[in-house]
Amino acid sequence: MQDFQQHLDTIHRDVLKLPNTGNVASYIPELAAVSNSKFGIHLLDIQKNKYAVGDCTERFSIQSISKVLSLSLAMRCINEAVWKRVDVEPSGDPFNHLSLLELEDGIPRNPLINAGAIVIADILVSELENPKADFLSFIRDLANDPSISYDEKVAKSERKTGFKNFAAANLLKSYGNLTNDVEDVLDFYFHQCSLHMNCVQLCDTFYLFINRGKCKRNKTYLNINQIKRINALMLTCGFYDEAGEFAFEVGLPGKSGVGGGIVALLPNNFCVATWSPALNKKGNSARGMAALEHLTTLTELSIF
Ligand code: GLN
Repeated sequence: MQDFQQHLDTIHRDVLKLPNTGNVASYIPELAAVSNSKFGIHLLDIQKNKYAVGDCTERFSIQSISKVLSLSLAMRCINEAVWKRVDVEPSGDPFNHLSLLELEDGIPRNPLINAGAIVIADILVSELENPKADFLSFIRDLANDPSISYDEKVAKSERKTGFKNFAAANLLKSYGNLTNDVEDVLDFYFHQCSLHMNCVQLCDTFYLFINRGKCKRNKTYLNINQIKRINALMLTCGFYDEAGEFAFEVGLPGKSGVGGGIVALLPNNFCVATWSPALNKKGNSARGMAALEHLTTLTELSIF
C-alpha cells in the first residue's frame, strides 16, 4: 500500500526548494495577473481516497486541459466520426502552430493542439442544443459539482488577443473543416478554455479516465475503447512538443494547460492534478512536471 500523503508532502517540500523557473502565460492578459508562487498537488486514487498538499483548492484557468473534456463529449455525440475531421498523431510542434495545418489540407494532427480542439469545438457547436451551457453541465455532472463555471473575464481577455486561434479557425474554414461561423466556434472554444477549477475538481472530473469510463457516482459516460483512445492521445499528444519528454520523465498519460495546471493518471490506480503557473518554454508548468517526475519515481507507479 502506497503512502500517497507522505509522498505528496515530500514532493511539495523538495520541489519548493528548486528555483521557480519559467514565466506565467501573458499572451492572455488576464492570466498574467496570477501569482507564480502558487503550488498545489491533489491525488485521487481508484478507491476514491483523496490526498492534498499546497494550493489545491484555489481555482485557476484550466485552459488546454479542457481539450480532453471537449473531445470526450464529442466522442459521446458522434464517436468514431470524430476521426474523419482530426488525426491522432503527435505534432512535435507548439500548441498553436499552423504550418502543419496547411501542409495537411486542414486536418489537424490531433484533437489536443489548438487547431484540433477548434475542430472539436465546431462538432460540439453543431451537436449540442445550447453548446456552452450543455458543455458546462457535462463537466458539472462528471465532477458532481454544480459550482464549476466559466471565467468570463478570461474568455473575453483571450478573445481580444486570440489572433492565432482566429488564424487557425479561418484556415480550417478555408479547407472546409469548419461547419459553423468562426466567431461562434471560437466563442465556445474560449469559454471551454476559461473553465475555472481547482486541483480537487480536476481529479474528480478525470476520475472516469482511471475508472473505465465510469464517473465517481458510477455512471458510465464513455466505453472502455473510447477511454483507451483518449488516454492514448493524452500520452502521445498531451504536452505538444514536449509529449516525448513527459513520457520519458513521468511516464503517464496527461494534459497540461497554460494556466499552469497538469492532470496525469494511471488507469485503474490514481489521478493527480498539479498547479503551478510558471511555464517552461514549451508552455508546460515547470514545477508541475518536476512534481510528477518525483511522484512516479518515488511510487514506482507509471504505465511503463
Ligand atoms: N486557450 C489557450 C490557447 O488557445 C490554450 C492553450 C494551452 O493551454 N496550451 O492558446
